[in-house]
Amino acid sequence: MKNEKNYAVKNAGAFENLTREVFNESLDLSAIELSINRMKAGESSPFVHAHKRNEEVYVFIKGKGAACIDGEEFPVNAGDVMRIDPEGKRAFRADASEDLLYICVQAEKASLVQHTGNDGFPAKEKPSWMQKQ
Ligand code: ZN
Repeated sequence: MKNEKNYAVKNAGAFENLTREVFNESLDLSAIELSINRMKAGESSPFVHAHKRNEEVYVFIKGKGAACIDGEEFPVNAGDVMRIDPEGKRAFRADASEDLLYICVQAEKASLVQHTGNDGFPAKEKPSWMQKQ
């Protein structure tokens, strides 16, 4: 674990170790919550849930399964990305044949002030690989 003035780095080891706690507690995130999740083949969310303030983005990275949002059921597959408003009542399940891997990012709805195009700016510092030989 490395925790410096303007950054934190942690090696969590195996993919399965990349839990919500690794991101949110080890990296001390202040604006988003991020988790990488593996739903085992045939498993389902234990309950339907919604949020008070947070919008969620799901990025399905491997496998297939199903989503149920506000009572509408539909398939989800690797490559699907999904935004769900806080009040959307959601649950997921993995198909019986394979695990479903997905990333979930959440942040307070409408809290993003500006995107990278307006917020990022070039700095003068250069890493060794950008300096002239
Ligand atoms: Zn949630």
